[in-house]
Amino acid sequence: MSEKKHLSISQLNMLSFCGEQYRRRYILGEKRPPGVSLLVGRSVDDSVNANLGNKIITKELLPVEQVLDIARDTLNHEWEREEIFLDEKEKILGEKQARGNAVDKAVRLSELHALKLAPSINPTHVQRKWEIELAGYPVDLLGFIDVQEGSKAIRDTKTSGKSPAKNAADTSDQLTIYAMAAYVLDGQIPEKLTLDYLVDLKTPKESIIETTRTVDDFKPLLARIENACTVLEKGAFTPARQDNPLCSPKWCGYALTCKYHRKINNSYIEGE
Ligand code: SF4
Repeated sequence: MSEKKHLSISQLNMLSFCGEQYRRRYILGEKRPPGVSLLVGRSVDDSVNANLGNKIITKELLPVEQVLDIARDTLNHEWEREEIFLDEKEKILGEKQARGNAVDKAVRLSELHALKLAPSINPTHVQRKWEIELAGYPVDLLGFIDVQEGSKAIRDTKTSGKSPAKNAADTSDQLTIYAMAAYVLDGQIPEKLTLDYLVDLKTPKESIIETTRTVDDFKPLLARIENACTVLEKGAFTPARQDNPLCSPKWCGYALTCKYHRKINNSYIEGE
């Protein structure tokens, strides 16, 4: 492993959304408690990884009840392990009810994946670690591919409360960077790249969005990385615009102490 600093796709995305948020998190090292949605996503990911990991080793999926137990146990463990950020609605519900709802959601979405997606996935890797050395750049790239089906597909599991945009996979820098990682590791880009959305509607449903990438798609990504390196070297951390809904206390843990964020009555609380 190289001694250079590493840049992940989530760091790159944070830097391009809000340089100030990146500065607080990665330059000053100020961590903020995760929100409930993040915990649900982690719990579902753990259950999916265990289920598909078992399929790689034994060719069989785990019993569904075991998959659901993993989601439930992960959420409860994470909840007890660290402070959780509750939004205003969750505070009104109370921590006990908010936690119960989060467990139910993680179990629902894990079951959806176990029943509707996992049977047709033929994984060769889960959470495949990769590193790309960027000669001449001050950083290297580092990350994990959620699920890979050899040369057939790269898949990323997402949890969401609403259906994704039809072009979500086409516009995903995350999938582009995973395609580049597979190209470096395996010498080829898998035939398709998919976002496996588990959507928590009244009746939860899966939404699988497919796309492809070619080596030409790497050039704009590398240009973004080059730009990120310039920003990091100069320390030119541009704040997000406040009319972006993500620049709010609801979605940004730094908003209450952010010098760029203007306080606005009650709408300030919900970030709308
Ligand atoms: S409140 Fe807005 S400007 Fe401040 S760190 Fe958060 S996203 Fe960036």
